[in-house]
Amino acid sequence: MSFYCPRLCIVGSGLIGGSLALALKKAGRVGEVVGAGRNEATLQRAQELGIIDRHVTDIAEAARGADIVVLSVPLLAMRQVFEQLAPVLRPGMVLTDVGSAKTSVIEDARAVLGQKSRQFVPGHPIAGTEKSGPDAAFAGLFEGRKVILTPLSDNDAGDVARIRAMWRIAGAEVEGMTALHHDHVLAATSHLPHLLAFALVESLARMEERHEVFRYAAGGFRDFTRIAASDPTMWRDIALANAAEIKGMLKRYQKDLDHLYALLDQGDGEALHALFNRARQAREGLKL
Ligand code: NAP
Repeated sequence: MSFYCPRLCIVGSGLIGGSLALALKKAGRVGEVVGAGRNEATLQRAQELGIIDRHVTDIAEAARGADIVVLSVPLLAMRQVFEQLAPVLRPGMVLTDVGSAKTSVIEDARAVLGQKSRQFVPGHPIAGTEKSGPDAAFAGLFEGRKVILTPLSDNDAGDVARIRAMWRIAGAEVEGMTALHHDHVLAATSHLPHLLAFALVESLARMEERHEVFRYAAGGFRDFTRIAASDPTMWRDIALANAAEIKGMLKRYQKDLDHLYALLDQGDGEALHALFNRARQAREGLKL
C-alpha cells in the first residue's frame, strides 16, 4: 500500500511521536505535521527541531482536519486525550497510539469514543531509548525495529493497512497480535527488566556504602542498569496499566530468585553452573 498523509497530528512530540514525525518527513510521505500537547515550551522546542510544522496546545484544535492522529503521551494520559479528540473525530480520520501496554488504552478508547473507537488502531513500536523529550527524537529510531499492532475486531481493514504502511515507511517491520497477548509478552521482555533495573539501582542507592558501590560499578552494572535512567512517569504509567501481567512475572521471578538463593545456600556449584549455562545458551540464541 502506498502511503501519504496530507495532515498528521502528533499528540506528544517526545521521543516516540517526534521520531515518527521525523521519519515520515524524511521519507517525504507527510504534508503538514501539527503538534499538540499540554506544554507550550515542549511544543516550541519540537517546532525548532523541525519535528512539527506548527503547534497548538488545544488538542481538539490541533487534530481538526487531520488524516491521522498519533497519541504519543504517557499511558495514563491517553484517556484525557481521547476525551479531547472525541468532538473532532470525523469519518475518515484514523487514530493510533504508541503506548507500551495495549489493553488499558483500548479500554480508554472504548469508554470514551464508544462506536467511534473503531477508528482507533492500537500500536506499539518496540523501539526506544532511555531518553525522552523532543531532543531525544531521531528519524532512524524505528529502522529495522518491530512495531506490534493490536487491531480491534471492528477496525476497518483499510485503516489498519494505512497504519501498517505508515510504520513501514518509518523503517519498521510490522506484526499483529491480540492486545492481551501483547501485554503478556511485553510484561516479560520489557516491563519486568525495567522494573528490576529500577529496583536494583534504588536498592543499592540505599546502602550505606553506596558511594563505593557506584564508584566501582563496571560494565556489567552499566549494562544491567542503563534502563533505570528511563522516564519515571512513563514507567509508573506502564507499571499501573499492565499491573496484572507484571505481577505475574514478578511472582515467577521471585520464585526463581528463591531457587538461586537456595543453590547458593547449599553451595551447589553443579546446579549453579547448569543454570548459568542454560541462560548463556538462551542468550546466545537471541537475535538482538
Ligand atoms: P516522551 O519523550 O516523554 O514524550 C511524551 C510527550 O507527551 C511529551 O511531549 C510530553 O510533553 C507529552 N505529554 C506528557 N503528558 C501529557 C499530557 N497529560 N497531555 C499531553 N501531552 C503530554 O515519552 P516517549 O518515550 O515518547 O513515550 C510516549 C509513549 O510512547 C508512552 O505511552 C510510552 O509508553 C510509549 N513508548 C515509549 C518507548 C520508549 O522507549 N521511550 C518505546 C515504545 C513506546 P510535556 O511533558 O512537556 O507535556
